[in-house]
Amino acid sequence: MSERKVDFLVIGSGIAGLSFALKAADHGKVLIVTKSNEDESNTKYAQGGVAAVVDKSDSFEQHIIDTQIAGDGLCDVNIVENVVREAPERINELISYGTSFDKSDSGFYDLAKEGGHSANRILHYKDITGYEIERSLLQKIHEHPNIEIDVLNKFYGRTAAELHLTIQDIVGLDPLAVETHFKDFLHKHPQLTARQVQFLNLLQAYISQNGGIMIDKLYEAPFTGVHPQSIDGLFTPDDVTDLIHVMKPFVKKQPPEQRIA
Ligand SMILES: Cc1cc2nc3c(=O)[nH]c(=O)nc-3n(C[C@H](O)[C@H](O)[C@H](O)COP(=O)(O)OP(=O)(O)OC[C@H]3O[C@@H](n4cnc5c(N)ncnc54)[C@H](O)[C@@H]3O)c2cc1C
Repeated sequence: MSERKVDFLVIGSGIAGLSFALKAADHGKVLIVTKSNEDESNTKYAQGGVAAVVDKSDSFEQHIIDTQIAGDGLCDVNIVENVVREAPERINELISYGTSFDKSDSGFYDLAKEGGHSANRILHYKDITGYEIERSLLQKIHEHPNIEIDVLNKFYGRTAAELHLTIQDIVGLDPLAVETHFKDFLHKHPQLTARQVQFLNLLQAYISQNGGIMIDKLYEAPFTGVHPQSIDGLFTPDDVTDLIHVMKPFVKKQPPEQRIA
């Protein structure tokens, strides 16, 4: 098993990942790992443009109101405020990275007006704004000596499924999703003892923290703390089969061949 040591691991190469990587690269070595091609992202396909208050006749307050109305009052006002107020700064950052936005004959940005906005505030590059952002960020990334970018196939030499598992290893799984998955087992077995419930809670917590589980792990602590024989001591053989079947989507077969440290 070989190791690569970096200070920052960035998963994904859209506007979020690439922008973060450029900032992190001032503080250490960065590895960006992405799924298929380095430019394959929603970012690349975004067409319309980016909303930001850059015109004197516009205001943050109005952009915030427009966003709240478009969001039917469901948006978190603090997030809306942050995004709206930071937008001009982020636009300048993109420009400093080499992103072009169209200008009108007056020399000022050719601001478009899109649905939900009460003012012209959409900066765009033709109708391929996302493509232009992705292009310029990637160019900057390629020029940076502290940043490496790898697509899954090159890095692992295999399939996307392996990167998916590696990411699961790192970030874990949503506890609620894991809990929901186990609901059927609980419905089928309504008479569980306190220790069986304790075991199942531990199992779900382990799976969500570690992004899955290898069956061998069931016979180690913390599971043997509930019963020395773990699952076999707590459940009937039929129930063990049932439970292993429920766990199947989370069972890790073997660690990936390469790891990022
Ligand atoms: C057709 C279209 C039009 C749009 N138009 C606009 C617009 O006009 N204005 C606007 O503001 N927004 C628009 N959007 C939304 C905008 O594109 C997204 O909000 C934005 O690009 C999200 O950026 P991101 O970096 O978070 O995600 P993405 O750009 O999607 O990047 C995610 C990255 O993660 C990678 N990835 C995903 N899963 C894995 C995995 N398991 N392992 C490794 N890598 C993984 C992907 O390959 C990709 O590189 C549009 C979106 C689409 C699809």
